[in-house]
Amino acid sequence: MQRRLQLSTKQGFQVSRKLIYFSSKPNERLGSFQSEFDCQHFDRFDAFLQTEARPDVFLIQADTGDYSHDILTRIRGHGDYYCDLCFVDGEIAGSDKLLSDGGIPDPDALASRLSEVEDLHAAFKRRDEPLYRDDRLLKYLWLRPGFVIRAHYDWSSPGFYSYPLLEALSFSEIDVRAWLRNLSLKKFLDKQELQDRQRECPHCRSTHLSFIDVCPNCQSIDIEKQISLHCFVCGQVGPQQEFLRNGVLICPKCETHLRQIGSDYDRPIENYSCRQCDHFFDEGDVLARCAVCSRSMAVEDLVVNKIYAWKLSELGQIVAIRGAMTDILSIFTEMNFVPQELFLHNLDWILLQAERYPECTFSMLGLYFVNLQQMVDMLGSARVLQKVEGFAERVRESLRKPDLCTRSTENMVWLLLPQTGSEGLSSLKTRLERSIEQLQEADAQKLVCEFASFSSEQRNAGENAELLLARLRSELI
Ligand SMILES: [Zn+2]
Ligand SMILES: [Zn+2]
Ligand SMILES: [Zn+2]
Repeated sequence: MQRRLQLSTKQGFQVSRKLIYFSSKPNERLGSFQSEFDCQHFDRFDAFLQTEARPDVFLIQADTGDYSHDILTRIRGHGDYYCDLCFVDGEIAGSDKLLSDGGIPDPDALASRLSEVEDLHAAFKRRDEPLYRDDRLLKYLWLRPGFVIRAHYDWSSPGFYSYPLLEALSFSEIDVRAWLRNLSLKKFLDKQELQDRQRECPHCRSTHLSFIDVCPNCQSIDIEKQISLHCFVCGQVGPQQEFLRNGVLICPKCETHLRQIGSDYDRPIENYSCRQCDHFFDEGDVLARCAVCSRSMAVEDLVVNKIYAWKLSELGQIVAIRGAMTDILSIFTEMNFVPQELFLHNLDWILLQAERYPECTFSMLGLYFVNLQQMVDMLGSARVLQKVEGFAERVRESLRKPDLCTRSTENMVWLLLPQTGSEGLSSLKTRLERSIEQLQEADAQKLVCEFASFSSEQRNAGENAELLLARLRSELI
């Protein structure tokens, strides 16, 4: 990190970046990089690992797909190198392309790409704790603006699609599908185009399915198509065979001699009969059979799965530069924050106290961000976060140690202020109102915050914390 920062701010003097070049035999191409980079050549990844070098970029010249696969997957699966730029020329499998940064660029293009990455790297939220799966992915994506995570299609894999990058960055065998679901719930990733939609076995999620028509009565596969007739006189429908008697058509039920097609009888739909149970039907049931777990199921029971490409969301970018955070108002959770239950518990206690000792005053202030969602839709979370952050700072400055803060809904924050009477409350409210105005004086789109204030002398007898909060809320919404 230290070294990289130095590199990105280098002034006048040239610090050469370390380039690691993998190829099974020495390659002349390396020469063109030597003037700008401190180059080292290795034929195997293990040989490189022994040097404990801290490279800035990897290049791979691969004679075979196995060669590029081995080195690429080991780079992406390594705690120190997973997010480094890695370019590959030569043989590379389709799934491995999703792990590389493309073909080897010329030295100048490589140098400017590296400068970009170094700047992004400097902006990435530094964390002392080890980076977990989510952080690794966020960092990888953060260093590659606009990067799209794509699924790879392979007919021989049970589910057809895999996400090689996610598999590599997870560092372990995990359910990538569940991980993606989780990332999308946290809104770290945004859906891009729909790559495919497929039906999958509900038991093992395989897509290797075959479909077969069966008898709806006994589920036998031994069915055959029949040409059938329909008697207009009695409505009987049955196989043509049953109507044939000595070369003429006679209804087996009402014994009418059927002469005229269209007036006595017609040929209805093609029908089927079951050779196991003699059932006669016009449409068989369709069963899906899974080649992987051998189970059979109705087609309606198959699970529809949509395969998307994904991209780092705006919130994901914020998390990359700010560190973990779930939503915009969570900035308020940094100050005197307690979970809602604890807040209610404290409020109940302070209400009882105020009942018993009238000199024990307290106040409450509710902050309701009316148009938070619309603002996010319009300006993006990064800009709204900036606004809210400035405001939260002012709120934080106004709070004293015993004051408590909680959130009830997405866009509502509550402050509980012990030993504060109506005068103190109204001056705090005025201060905050002014702050939010000042902070966005010049902005065309303004974040609107409404306040609900309450001080202990306004309390209703017998009202508990929950009721009080509900009453104040209804004043706002
Ligand atoms: Zn049958
Ligand atoms: Zn008939
Ligand atoms: Zn299955």
